[in-house]
Amino acid sequence: MNSIAIIGASLAGLRAAETFRREGFDATIHLVGDEPHAPYDRPPLSKQILAGDWEIEKAWLAKPEKYDELALETHYGVAATGLDVGGLAVSLDSGTTLAVDGIVIATGARCRTIGEPLAGVFTLRTLDDAIGIRAAFDAAPDRVVVVGAGFIGAEVAATARELGLDVTMVEMATAPFERSMGAEMGAVLADIHREHDVDLRLGVGVSGFTGDDAVTGVDLTDGTHIAADVVIVGVGVIPNTEWLTESGLDITNGVLCDDTTLVAPGVVAAGDVARWHNRHFDETMRVEHWDNAITMGTHAAKRLLHGESAGAYTPTPWFWSDQYDRKIQLAGRTTGFDRFELVNGDVESRTFAGIYGRGGRIVAVLGFNRPRHVMRYRALIDSGASFDDALAADI
Ligand SMILES: Cc1cc2nc3c(=O)[nH]c(=O)nc-3n(C[C@H](O)[C@H](O)[C@H](O)COP(=O)(O)OP(=O)(O)OC[C@H]3O[C@@H](n4cnc5c(N)ncnc54)[C@H](O)[C@@H]3O)c2cc1C
Repeated sequence: MNSIAIIGASLAGLRAAETFRREGFDATIHLVGDEPHAPYDRPPLSKQILAGDWEIEKAWLAKPEKYDELALETHYGVAATGLDVGGLAVSLDSGTTLAVDGIVIATGARCRTIGEPLAGVFTLRTLDDAIGIRAAFDAAPDRVVVVGAGFIGAEVAATARELGLDVTMVEMATAPFERSMGAEMGAVLADIHREHDVDLRLGVGVSGFTGDDAVTGVDLTDGTHIAADVVIVGVGVIPNTEWLTESGLDITNGVLCDDTTLVAPGVVAAGDVARWHNRHFDETMRVEHWDNAITMGTHAAKRLLHGESAGAYTPTPWFWSDQYDRKIQLAGRTTGFDRFELVNGDVESRTFAGIYGRGGRIVAVLGFNRPRHVMRYRALIDSGASFDDALAADI
């Protein structure tokens, strides 16, 4: 193999590049990204950067000397517009075509939006989004409305409250994080937000925004109107696969890989954009978490270099979220869980761990300020332990 193109210059793409070098690949690596910046970390965007606790430089994923060491051909501010799968060629909007021997698809995802663009209405995915929201917060808005109480919404609401802003959070489900942790534990998180004076509106959607030049409020589906001068919409993401539309690949909800991350001969995928069958959970999944971008970027690079000997990609997905003084962590998959038990602490103190079971197996663990428990039960999930054995384990 003489040349590789990595499309998507972010976490999965950079980790793939590092892996190629670590594994001894010493020929050309192109790193193509449509953002104007070198790769940066996204989790601090809703936390330290938005709070003003970190300078932007702290979010870079690698220092300039690291790029010298990796000797990458970087193409920042350049978008891939097409992929010739059989010819292993990527067309770029700069007019260039990269004909290579291997391709990593790592184009991630972007935010869903609601309605037409309007001043004062934001989404949060990029560094520039975070800078824009921070400037809007600095202008001391009277009321911030957060739409969606998932990852982004709940963290932005927490950060905005810590900055002393008046926050309303609107969520269609009956609890924040309901999809990932279930209604009962989501209700605990709802209480934490209420304790921090977030005006939480659950079980209701947004029908539109008011305002001509700039947002003045949010209309809800129950007929209520909330005045707002800043709105952050966090209603999920869409995988960036438009550039693959003509490629013939299956791009339904992300690009489909086999269970080793291979998309087609010479093409692999990783991170938020990739969908694959995870044998360990017997579930086809697309995972939008930081840790998966790292481990899948690493695995995909090895799959491209070493072929099937890289093996199947069977991680136990894992995420954390920081809200107020709680570090919330969830490892595993709660899809279709049929049991849940608290295994440490108690809900009242907001410090606990609980495990989820499905079909007699432990499939997930949730911790609120319980990192050690999450890591230990995660090892039991990895090993395929039964729910009862996990309950009886001395952890
Ligand atoms: C605000 C925020 C907070 C988060 N917090 C957490 C957290 O606390 N815990 C956690 O586990 N996860 C968190 N995440 C999720 C985590 O950051 C993502 O899972 C991770 O960034 C995915 O990495 P990726 O490389 O797959 O994709 P991305 O980071 O989305 O990068 C893909 C890159 O490809 C570029 N691209 C897209 N299309 C093209 C194209 N056609 N040509 C060239 N380039 C293209 C994109 O612009 C982007 O730069 C957070 C995400 C955000 C946005």
